[in-house]
Amino acid sequence: MAERRKTIQLDAIRTAVLEAGRPLSIAEILEESTKSVPSISLRTVYRVIRKLEEEEEITAVTLPSQPDRYESSKAAAKHHHHFHCTKCDRLFDVDGCPGRLKQLIPDGFVLKEHDLTLRGLCASCA
Ligand SMILES: [Zn+2]
Ligand SMILES: [Zn+2]
Repeated sequence: MAERRKTIQLDAIRTAVLEAGRPLSIAEILEESTKSVPSISLRTVYRVIRKLEEEEEITAVTLPSQPDRYESSKAAAKHHHHFHCTKCDRLFDVDGCPGRLKQLIPDGFVLKEHDLTLRGLCASCA
């Protein structure tokens, strides 16, 4: 019975992250997963998220001075960027990339990777 309960909780948390369509914070994952399984606690969310991260099913999205968000590793594998709404604090995926960043760096430097986070107001907050 305890195992069954654990599985139900894990499934609800996994589904919350994989089907959100944008990276979710721990608080958002808790909110979303308790809609289907109200007994889920914050501690359970942390435990399951750590497990899903170890199993490489989900990937952390880190932002400076922000709590981590989580997205599916499948989404993370496709190069994309994020938009952070500074009002509701939600993070959204942005398709595409400005590219041509090589032009910004000094001669002789080698660009290996980049992070880019756009900030502003989402459609519901604007
Ligand atoms: Zn917003
Ligand atoms: Zn890019």
